[in-house]
Amino acid sequence: MFGECHAHIIMDGVNYRRAVDMHKNGPDDQIIKAHLKAYQDKGITFVRDGGDALGVSLRAKEIAPEYGIDYRTPVFAIHKEGHYGSIVGKSFATMREFHDRVLEAKKAGADFIKIMTTGIMDFNAHGAVTGTPLDAAEVKEMVHIAHEEGMNVMSHTNGDYGVQAAVEAGVDSLEHGNYMNEDSLAMLAQSHMVWVPTLVTVRNLMGDGRYEDEVLWPIIESAKENVRKAFQLGIKVAPGSDAGAYRVLHGQGIQDEMDSFVEFLEEEKRDDVYRWLADGEAEIKKKFMRL
Ligand SMILES: [Zn+2]
Repeated sequence: MFGECHAHIIMDGVNYRRAVDMHKNGPDDQIIKAHLKAYQDKGITFVRDGGDALGVSLRAKEIAPEYGIDYRTPVFAIHKEGHYGSIVGKSFATMREFHDRVLEAKKAGADFIKIMTTGIMDFNAHGAVTGTPLDAAEVKEMVHIAHEEGMNVMSHTNGDYGVQAAVEAGVDSLEHGNYMNEDSLAMLAQSHMVWVPTLVTVRNLMGDGRYEDEVLWPIIESAKENVRKAFQLGIKVAPGSDAGAYRVLHGQGIQDEMDSFVEFLEEEKRDDVYRWLADGEAEIKKKFMRL
């Protein structure tokens, strides 16, 4: 079975607000254990968390060995004040504060650093990303600081400007990566980084009613096209579902993600698709442990 390379144990795939509230007086072990059990039941032995602001993923890392799970976490994600990311972490305003956040995460027991360099897909405007991406020079400095502290970097990034800035900065994994053009894909292919497209965060919304299916469909089609190009170009890609996000359940999410890859690459042999993803996952496991 494949590992889950992008999860948020703090969330439950159903109701974000309610899920987070359950941990407001400290991580709730019963809930964490229920989520870990969902992974164990599916035979999943590796989970990489994307962070949260309440120490829930850190607690999960402590408990995970009881469930035979190798759990990696950045503790919290780091975002710039006024930009996207407060739902999964803590903010910084200056580079000095960023550095302090890196040290804080490291001291708390982080395996790596998670940064947020752009917003998310704008469901009201196809092809657009919410907010303003962080400046390329700033991202470069952030990644440099993290690397100097001996920590690899998981980067939440969408859109061409953000992706190209992240690749140039040398991040170690690129999360989501919606809306990439040929240039961005070519840069990814030349780099050492692993792309974790989290396909089911959009795919699992089909038929749900939160967004119109005709809004979702073009996003899914563009993801499909890019996954196919990534396969052809030999870009390193790993399976991660963003489990915990709306309609993406712990344990089941990664199965849904794998099914998406197989469907998107329908004319390839399933074994070849699996081998490609297994290579990407191996790369994630190797990089996202404490150096
Ligand atoms: Zn995430």
